[in-house]
Amino acid sequence: MDKMFVIMDNLALQNETVPHHRSARLRQIDHAKVNALGALLENSLYKVQMTKRVVPGAFVEIHTHDTDIFHILQGTATFVTGGTAVDPQPAAPGEIHAKSMIGGTEHHLTKGDIIIIPHGIPHQFTKIEEGPLVYFVVKVVQ
Ligand SMILES: [Zn+2]
Repeated sequence: MDKMFVIMDNLALQNETVPHHRSARLRQIDHAKVNALGALLENSLYKVQMTKRVVPGAFVEIHTHDTDIFHILQGTATFVTGGTAVDPQPAAPGEIHAKSMIGGTEHHLTKGDIIIIPHGIPHQFTKIEEGPLVYFVVKVVQ
């Protein structure tokens, strides 16, 4: 997980394993918990987070299994996707980090935008124009 994310401190992160033949059980996440930001729910099918970012990403991320879906709720940022990662290194299971990438497409994200980053695509927030950037994240595990 990106170390710049403000997550995980004192929130009860609920982990559950969902058998492939069953869907995850119904969950409601209370607004107070959502407003507190952080990792909200995680199971073998998806991860749900509220993220607040005040600085650009310190490195390029590549998720080998997770597809990121971001819904921007506040702020504006420049986000680059799809370049060639320079010297990619394993950072955690399913996670590859690189210091930079060559090429790629710049996206200017603002409140209301949704962006979907398929697994395997390098991506990085390169600039926060109006911070903090607050966004809802669903990571779909593939
Ligand atoms: Zn990501």
